[in-house]
Amino acid sequence: MVLDWLLGRFSSDLGIDLGTANTLIYMKGKGIVLDEPSVVAMKSGTNRVLTVGRQAKEMVGRTPGGFTAIRPLKDGVIANFDCAEQMLRAFSRKTHNRGAWVRPRVIVGVPSGITQVEKRAIRDSADLAGAREVYLMEEPLAAAIGAGLPVQEPTGSMIVDIGGGTTQVAVISLAGIVYSQSIRIAGDEMDDAIAQHMKRKHSLLIGEHTAERVKISIGSAVPFEEPRTMPVTGRDCVQGIPKSVTISDTEIREALQDPVSAILRAVKTALERTPPELSADLAENGILLSGGGALLHGLDRLLAGETHLRIQVADEPKTCVVRGTGKALDNLDYMRMCAEV
Ligand code: ADP
Ligand code: MG
Repeated sequence: MVLDWLLGRFSSDLGIDLGTANTLIYMKGKGIVLDEPSVVAMKSGTNRVLTVGRQAKEMVGRTPGGFTAIRPLKDGVIANFDCAEQMLRAFSRKTHNRGAWVRPRVIVGVPSGITQVEKRAIRDSADLAGAREVYLMEEPLAAAIGAGLPVQEPTGSMIVDIGGGTTQVAVISLAGIVYSQSIRIAGDEMDDAIAQHMKRKHSLLIGEHTAERVKISIGSAVPFEEPRTMPVTGRDCVQGIPKSVTISDTEIREALQDPVSAILRAVKTALERTPPELSADLAENGILLSGGGALLHGLDRLLAGETHLRIQVADEPKTCVVRGTGKALDNLDYMRMCAEV
């Protein structure tokens, strides 16, 4: 009893969303204590970490010689184990988890359908970052719980989580995932598509940051009420000198057509493969969008027009997964949906 109380009081258990684009940490009793890009800046040729997170992201594309900015996750899983571990260590130091007399229990969100080896890599890096017990929760479930969907009820819900590296489409019923599919097309691909367009149409080379800024400012899946334009500066690929051009939302919408259609196709495929009883539920409940990519202007309206279903963007879509892991720290029913590794 006393031990239970102590563990509950002082362990400051953590929920972690280790995303391809962003890492978020939820601390029991405190809420979200960290929300930073999943980027590590290293001294080239060594494994010395210079900085992580926001500061490291700012160095991407403008790193002085001798430094490299690395994204340790790719397609939702750890691609560079050493970097991922160092990043997690640095992040857990930043969360000032000083009340932790006991090493924390940690729930980490993972893409559904990852391999044993990938699970082990996540477990090991969380271990190294100081966890006592590590549980994994499939991200679509975590996102659904975070968004407040009735995941335990015998009714089907569809969730589409659009992150940096992957879009995961899942149908959930009775606390389990009935169908899930993941495609490697999400926010990063949209940025790439914009950079490609700038190069092809304007002979302008831009970095991934600029491309992301364009996407967030004037990117869309359906037209805005008022047309938008924005100046974009990069390097002229013929003359090699800085150049600025003004671009319109129409051309960016065209540039985004491939990744947006791929997401739409993944949703349609999921609808075709959903068991009929659950399809009826989806007709009633609609589809929930989560992840940062869900914020692309008009994506909800495009999906609604194409599927004839009600599409809802979750409140604070970027934090759904981490809030779901956080709720599981407090609720045994949700905790049971995790796998211990
Ligand atoms: P991950 O889970 O892979 O870390 P997130 O859920 O944090 O990803 O989403 C990150 C993606 O969301 C990035 O590609 C980012 O550019 C994109 N994003 C963030 N805000 C917006 C926005 N307002 N419009 C379109 N895309 C956005
Ligand atoms: Mg994510």
